[in-house]
Amino acid sequence: MPSQCASTFIPFEKKLKTPLTKQKITVLQINLGKRCNQTCNHCHVEASPQRREEISPEVCEQLITLIQQFPQIKVVDLTGGAPEMLYGFKALVEIARKKEKQVIVRSNLTIYFETGFTDIPEFCAQNQVKIVASLPCYLADNVDKMRGQGVYQKSIQALQWLNRLSYSHDTNLVLDLVYNPPIPEGENFSLTPDQKSLEQDYKIYLKKQFNIQFNHLLTITNLPIGRTRFFLENRRLYQSYLQFLAANFNDHTLEHLMCRQELSIDHLGNIYDCDFNQMENLAAKQSNGQSLTVEDLLNAGTLDLIDEIRTAPFCYGCTAGSGSSCGGALL
Ligand code: SF4
Ligand code: SF4
Repeated sequence: MPSQCASTFIPFEKKLKTPLTKQKITVLQINLGKRCNQTCNHCHVEASPQRREEISPEVCEQLITLIQQFPQIKVVDLTGGAPEMLYGFKALVEIARKKEKQVIVRSNLTIYFETGFTDIPEFCAQNQVKIVASLPCYLADNVDKMRGQGVYQKSIQALQWLNRLSYSHDTNLVLDLVYNPPIPEGENFSLTPDQKSLEQDYKIYLKKQFNIQFNHLLTITNLPIGRTRFFLENRRLYQSYLQFLAANFNDHTLEHLMCRQELSIDHLGNIYDCDFNQMENLAAKQSNGQSLTVEDLLNAGTLDLIDEIRTAPFCYGCTAGSGSSCGGALL
């Protein structure tokens, strides 16, 4: 960090007037593993086709029991890697829908064209799965630069496919898109653009060019972890980016942070406060300091064993400006 920044950087926990406390758990975000058919340069999971980590049959069974036993779980949010290609995907969708939970699948869209996964769009539509799909820009060059050559074209075809299945036309078939800003290449940092106005730009462009419709655009800030951190460090921008996020801290975001009501679960069944903490190996802690697994929750008969959320400098990414979460801007 440049010396003028080092002296003014305030650790995230010092910014909080009171510790960040957990509320009643209503959301399970399950990371099924790190394998993905893509290798995006902004991926905080550092996923790729070479990764082998994925959920085991034992952990999958425990998760099915958890979903069945706790009516307080309203949302089951499946992520990865590419969740559709990982063990347990269909079983978890089906059991969660049977128990009338909302199911969210975070899809890269290109998986629909891979051998063995071409039935996924129909499967999602039949189960009324909400699809949250990455499309970090509505222009081809920017998407292909971040996510790989040809990804934009396939994403467009996938969105048209989902529209043909009535996604975004039928109120039970919700299709949201995710915008990630480009990773900064110099110190001209900017906050994530206004979600509503960018949504309008996306809607007008995609409708006019490709006759595509979707429900909402979610703007998600790049947190300086995973490949984003690596990229920033390579350009000696990591500390100044953190400093920029910290300078834009907005305490109105705190009550809306996604970590307050969610449990994030990894492919081994370990519990975290959010997917970012999971990627940074910052396990959630009970008040006695012990970490937790899905098995512990089943044995205890409660999901509400965590009092305080574990925070880190990258939490400034969720609390800058209008805030950021897996559900988009917070304010
Ligand atoms: S950002 Fe998503 S699609 Fe890209 S490599 Fe990571 S998990 Fe895969
Ligand atoms: S990274 Fe964001 S969601 Fe995770 S603990 Fe920090 S503030 Fe909460």
